[in-house]
Amino acid sequence: MSRSIDRMLAGVAFATALATAFPVGAADLTLARKLELLVSAYPWSLAKPEDGAIRFRDGSLLPVDDGKTKGHAEKLAAGDVEDSLSQVYPAGPCETKPDVNVDPGRIRSDALMMRLYGKTAKEVEASLVPVDWFGKTLRLTKRQGVAAALEKVRDELKAMPEMKAFLAPSAGTFNWRKVSGAPNMSVHSFGAAIDINTQYADYWVWSGGKPGRVTQYRNKYPMKIVDAFERHGFIWGGRWYHYDTMHFEYRPELIAIGKAAGASACH
Ligand SMILES: [Zn+2]
Repeated sequence: MSRSIDRMLAGVAFATALATAFPVGAADLTLARKLELLVSAYPWSLAKPEDGAIRFRDGSLLPVDDGKTKGHAEKLAAGDVEDSLSQVYPAGPCETKPDVNVDPGRIRSDALMMRLYGKTAKEVEASLVPVDWFGKTLRLTKRQGVAAALEKVRDELKAMPEMKAFLAPSAGTFNWRKVSGAPNMSVHSFGAAIDINTQYADYWVWSGGKPGRVTQYRNKYPMKIVDAFERHGFIWGGRWYHYDTMHFEYRPELIAIGKAAGASACH
């Protein structure tokens, strides 16, 4: 008897987890609205959306859509700007259980990232500045306000001493490289990502997952940490089906689009 009730309750919990898989009540915005929010997220570099492209302040243009129809793996491998904005990121101090291939933020446009932060390791390195991270010095890009945003995250979390063990030592920031096992650039290449203490990390690859076939994990980081990062423009790899829970990257456009779409991690 009690065993069948247990099973029933487990079923309810499972259904609840699935129900929160994708932003509940979130409306998908038009591409035009998303592009406006993208431009406002990087005011130093981006001027305005213009005829299917993004106009940069230096006068150059970047097409928004390459016109190709892609599956999830192809979007990850070679995303354009439109692809990079195609999944809604739900922020807030609650965990989410994403459906298969719901990886909001994991799809990126390398072309856009390179224009925002630098096209080569050397060019990115020229903009790196030191950031104190609980007694150790990290290097992040100052471009787009990334280093300054991380300092705000740090100052908030420093006020909660019980968080330090989860945050430090950092497992890395700048590192010019491709995403592990993939053809596209990691955001670590641009000095715009941080891995926190790896001791509490869950990573889909380490857990034996395969692309499109990943087992769920039990998050070990306090959600106050995630909330502080998100409020300053960083998204969390723990909200990806292909999860990477120690990973945060600066993607203020996705936080803004999620908010405008009415998405919340706490629905
Ligand atoms: Zn990382």
